[in-house]
Amino acid sequence: MRPPVRGQLALALPAAVIANLRARCQLFGLSLDDLERILRKQDICCAVCRKRFTRRRQVQIDHDPATHTVRGLLCVACRAGLKLLGADPVVVRSAATYLEDHYP
Ligand SMILES: [Zn+2]
Repeated sequence: MRPPVRGQLALALPAAVIANLRARCQLFGLSLDDLERILRKQDICCAVCRKRFTRRRQVQIDHDPATHTVRGLLCVACRAGLKLLGADPVVVRSAATYLEDHYP
């Protein structure tokens, strides 16, 4: 039997999302308490866009593939965007500058 989920995690996310996260946590050696601590630190929001996680905006565990270290929790769009930009801070900053320079 699975241990009950408690705290903000249970309040913020539907059971199906928590079940998916439980499996993903095991891949990174995170406990649900670890996940809840990170969620609380991020105010239950994506670390990049700051939008709140919901059933539709699901939590993705972002990690450094070289070290397998968890960096934080992102939404699907932000995680995909970072991945497409090579997760390179220089490129990501350049993209932000480009957008700011061309913002109407
Ligand atoms: Zn996001």
